Amino acid sequence: MKGSLLYEGKAKKVYAITDQPERLILSYKNDATAFNGKKKDQFEGKGRLNNLITSKLFDYLHQQQLPSHFIEALNDTEQVVQKTTIIPLEVVVRNVAAGSITRRLGIEEKTRFTPPIIELFYKEDELDDPLINDVHAYHLTDISEKELSFIKEQALLVNEHLIQLFKDVGLELVDFKLEFGRLKDGSIVLADEISPDTCRLWDLETGKKMDKDVFRENIGDLVETYEAILQRLEEYTCAK
Ligand code: ADP
Ligand code: UDP
Repeated sequence: MKGSLLYEGKAKKVYAITDQPERLILSYKNDATAFNGKKKDQFEGKGRLNNLITSKLFDYLHQQQLPSHFIEALNDTEQVVQKTTIIPLEVVVRNVAAGSITRRLGIEEKTRFTPPIIELFYKEDELDDPLINDVHAYHLTDISEKELSFIKEQALLVNEHLIQLFKDVGLELVDFKLEFGRLKDGSIVLADEISPDTCRLWDLETGKKMDKDVFRENIGDLVETYEAILQRLEEYTCAK
């Protein structure tokens, strides 16, 4: 049974589960925010879309033997996950230049990165999630060198699997953000969400942006765009 509200973030609410202290319910909201909360809006149906897309992607990763906190979707907007202590790092993997790296380093959008670039950001809204290096991460979090290597390996594996999945549904995986958390036994596991809010996805044929950039840049209908992503993933999993 759904227990008390533990935390409300920009995109999700986190609930305890009565009698299941090692699990949580993540409830996806209809709010959209960008530029660290400076741009805000609400979109009817967004919570459902991100919940269902994230559930499909974590299911797919499980099928590829890549573990995560994800247990199951509970309903349209909620999912059950393993409770973790989140490591306050945003692990960004980039296959193609877009977003902050183009502004920060003057790299032209669409430049390819081979091998992919991994960037670490310190998850701290008050500091605007600054870019940090590995040594900063050891100071700012409780992870060891070995654990950071593991996190990076996992992030690259997620990248390989998702590049292939999205390619199969006509999308290019440009970049994405992951979070990792620590389970009760101390081990580290992939957590949070993977959705068009946290990935950049470009249509392989038209180059059209099919992710939160439609909201950031006011270039399209967010719900229609996310619905199209879910539909492609549903058709793909039905065909398999
Ligand atoms: P934010 O905190 O950045 O506004 P959200 O609105 O998505 O983000 O809130 C969801 C919160 O739940 C995030 O802080 C995220 O790190 C956290 N979270 C995600 N998965 C888990 C988990 N398995 N255990 C504990 N916390 C989690
Ligand atoms: N991202 C995210 N949450 C954040 C910051 C970034 O999910 O707080 C995702 C973003 O959607 C993109 C990738 O991480 O897919 C890289 O984001 P970038 O650093 O380019 O920042 P942006 O310009 O998107 O804010």
